[in-house]
This record gives sequence, structure tokens and C-alpha cells, in this order.
Amino acid sequence: MSQSTSVRHSSIATVNPYTNQVEREFEPLSLDALDASVDAAHEAFRTWRRVSVEERAALVGRAAGLLRERSEELAQTVTREMGKLIAHSRSEMDLSARILEYYAAEGPAQLADEPLEMDSGSAAVLNTPLGVLLGVEPWNFPVYQVVRFAAPNLVLGNTILIKHASTTPQSALAMEALFADAGAGPGVFTNLFIAPRDVGRVIENPLVRGASLTGSDRAGASVGEIAGRNIKKSVLELGGSDPFIVLDGANLERTVHAAMIGRMHNMGQSCVSAKRMIVVPEAYDRFVSSLAEQLSELEPGDPADEATTLAPLSSERAAEQLMEQVRDALEKGATAVVGGSRIDRPGAFLAPTLLTGVNPGMRAYREELFGPVAVVYRVENDDEAVALANSSDYGLGGAVFSADEGRARAVAEQLETGMVWINHPTSSEPNLPFGGIRRSGYGRELSEIGIKEFANRKLIAVTPGDARITDALG
Ligand code: NAP
Repeated sequence: MSQSTSVRHSSIATVNPYTNQVEREFEPLSLDALDASVDAAHEAFRTWRRVSVEERAALVGRAAGLLRERSEELAQTVTREMGKLIAHSRSEMDLSARILEYYAAEGPAQLADEPLEMDSGSAAVLNTPLGVLLGVEPWNFPVYQVVRFAAPNLVLGNTILIKHASTTPQSALAMEALFADAGAGPGVFTNLFIAPRDVGRVIENPLVRGASLTGSDRAGASVGEIAGRNIKKSVLELGGSDPFIVLDGANLERTVHAAMIGRMHNMGQSCVSAKRMIVVPEAYDRFVSSLAEQLSELEPGDPADEATTLAPLSSERAAEQLMEQVRDALEKGATAVVGGSRIDRPGAFLAPTLLTGVNPGMRAYREELFGPVAVVYRVENDDEAVALANSSDYGLGGAVFSADEGRARAVAEQLETGMVWINHPTSSEPNLPFGGIRRSGYGRELSEIGIKEFANRKLIAVTPGDARITDALG
């Protein structure tokens, strides 16, 4: 495992996507320093696991308070680093604080021993920590993603190493400071400035007991493969191409409003964005024209300015990659009802786009569109809607809209995804499990399910000292 330390050039930097200017650069850790960080996290685990669950929860509660106090500063940092509209950054801070508060309040009870019936004696499942965990996190919600992984695991008693996205280093440092200021000792929560190629070195380290990645399926496959080879637990929260199914024209105004939020929150750079809109004939024409009108009204500008309604994408590269997917669709015969091009101004801007006529020969049909591009499909009935929705390789979330809840529920039950919301865009709450199936990954974050993903669910069975010994072993 050990290799000599070599000189490496930093690609860890804040590049403001509104100006495309480099604002700050950071040096990556040497391999020796990286190994030392893993050692320190393990050393911290030896004491952290013995701290009472109530005290660990109290630390997470203090982190919630600090996050609320620093909310504006953190929101400004996030907006500067990845271009999010300032209102969206503020709502990310509120949700993140609520997740910390949720686990501070509920975590200890969720981790209580679970008694089991036995013929003779007593048994219980204990929820005990595994040890040092690595979280690999994306740039799209730089605070929420870290909190989603760290809060439950700190309450459980694991210690945390974070490899954050190379484009959000100041957010990464702010999260490390948040937990340190809440009272986490050295090694309990550590930020690692490392390149993706060094992630394997961390997972392979025998002191590391599990890994979680939120990001693309390409990166997830790599982390899952290394974890599997080393027989370590992994959780993968990957991309999606969520269906947004409209079954009737009732309350179309509300449905289009939901579609705008579902597709445009965070400029469409959310794993659970409404990426494929699937609409029955009764609603199709009005849905397309109304959505196109609302998309075309968005005004590009400085994302830190509250008047701006169209932010840049997270980076120039992200904008170009999305533009290539749109170009491919247009060249192969799709229609851009609005948009379909970059915006002629500095920054990583792309015009809000609505595509129709997308077919399986186009990249836009199969690939995730990570930005402000809505694809609308027309289907004849509910069965066609389900078939089209399930034709994706992904299986993260989905939404179904209908005045008839029973009809919506019947469609929701047939969708092959980890989550479905009815009459609301797919969303996230601290007490609701979040995650997907297929190429969207495995495992869940948030809720009681999330806090047990990296627990050793350990059985202790106690039989009376004079009980008969059976020879039935598993
Ligand atoms: P990404 O390129 O996969 O990056 C995510 C993280 O993985 C970053 O820290 C990145 O580091 C690291 N990484 C990249 N390649 C890696 C590799 N081969 N081995 C180990 N680590 C690697 O994804 P992204 O473009 O930042 O994020 C967007 C994707 O995340 C979308 O697909 C989105 O749907 C998905 N996502 C999923 C969820 C969910 O909960 N299911 C939530 C949010 C986002 P560098 O930054 O240094 O490259």
C-alpha cells in the first residue's frame, strides 16, 4: 500500500462559475499525510465509540446550532463555489440544519437495543459502530450531502473522513470547522483534499471499515468495486433520470409549477430533478406551452443577487457537457420548444431548454441531463407512462400527478425506483429514506434506515448457565 510521496499539481480549487475566475486553490494531501489522517481517524474511533450516544447526539445538536448561526456565510460560500441561486443555498442550509437536529433528537432512540424472542434466555440486536468511514461527496449540495452522511454516523459512533468534490474546497473546510467547533476532537471528522485516484488507497486501508459515495454511476462503480474487493460495506447514491408523470389535466397550473421546481431547483443539478416529463394527451399541449413560457421568463444574472432567477451551471465543463447532449438531440431531429443553446455572456450559462421529439437514438433519451433541460414525452395512457418511465437504466425517484390519488398510487407502485412522490416533485426530508435502485445505486440515507447502514447489527444471545446446549449451529 505504501508509495513514496510525489509532487502533484492541485486541481482542487474554487472557480466561480458566474465569472469563470479561479478564486482559491488548495494543495492536495501528500500520501503520507493521507495515511496519517486515516490513522488519526482510527485513533479517534477508539475513544469516540465509548462516548455515550447521548453525548455524541449532543455534538450533532451543537453542529446544528452552529450551522444555523453560520447559515448566511455558508450559503454565500456555496453560491460562490458552484453558482447556486442564493435562495437555493439558503434552503440547503435550512434542510441541513434540520437533518442535524433530527439525528440529534431521534438518533439515540433509533440506535437502542432491539430485543428478540428466544426459547430459553434473552437476545437483542445492538447497533454498534463499524469504525472509520469514507464519504465521497459531490458539489451539487456541498453542505447537505456531507450532513446526510456524517450526522447519523457520528451519532452511531463511527468516525468520518470526507473526500469532497474538487470544485467545492471552501465548503469542505467550512464543514470540518463546523464539527470541530461543535466539539469533535481530532480525527472524529476530517476533510481530505485528495484526487479521485487516491480514493482507492483510503478504502483499501485496513483501518477503514466502509465507504459511501454520492455522485455519478461511473465514480460509484469504482468505489463499489474497490469496497467489494476488500469486503467492505458500501452505500452508493448515484445519478437518476427521474420520471415526472402527468396523468390528467386537472390542476395543471399547480402541476406546471411543480414541474418548474422539480426541474429547475439548483438549476436542474439535482439527482432527483424531474428529468423526463411524461404526459397524457389530455394535458400535453397546455403542459408544454405553459412550461415553455415559464422557462423562457427566467433571467440570467449573478446568483448571489436575489433578483436573479437563472444561475450558471456549476462549471464551464458542466455547461459544455450538457450542451453536447442537447446538440446531439437537436441534430437527430428533436425540437427545442425554447432554449437549445448557450447564453451569450460570460459564465457557465445555458438557456433553459424544453425538448420534445426525443427518441431512443438520442443521448438525451438514456443519459442523465444534469441541468436546466426538460424533456417532455407524450404517452397515450397510464400503461405507456409506466413502460416509458421504467425504460431508464436508473431508478432513483419519480413523481406522479393526478386528481385521482388512487390512479396515481397504482402508477407509483409500478415504478421501478427507490422513491415516488404523488402530487409533489421528488424531495428530501430528514425522516424519509433517500436512495435508489439499478444504476442509481444501493442503500439509503436519512431516516432510521440511514443511521443503520454502517452499523454492526450485533446479536447478543444470553442463555441461562444451566440451559441444555443444542448442536444446531448455522
Ligand atoms: P462525480 O464526478 O461522480 O463526483 C462525485 C464525487 O466523486 C467527487 O468528490 C469526485 O471527486 C469523486 N470522484 C469522481 N470520480 C471518482 C472515482 N473514479 N473514484 C472515486 N471518486 C471519484 O459526480 P458529480 O458530477 O460531482 O455529481 C453529479 C452526479 O451525482 C450526478 O450523477 C447526480 O445525479 C449524482 N448525485 C446523486 C445523489 C443521490 O443521492 N443519489 C445526490 C446528488 C448527486 P472530484 O470532484 O475530485 O472529481
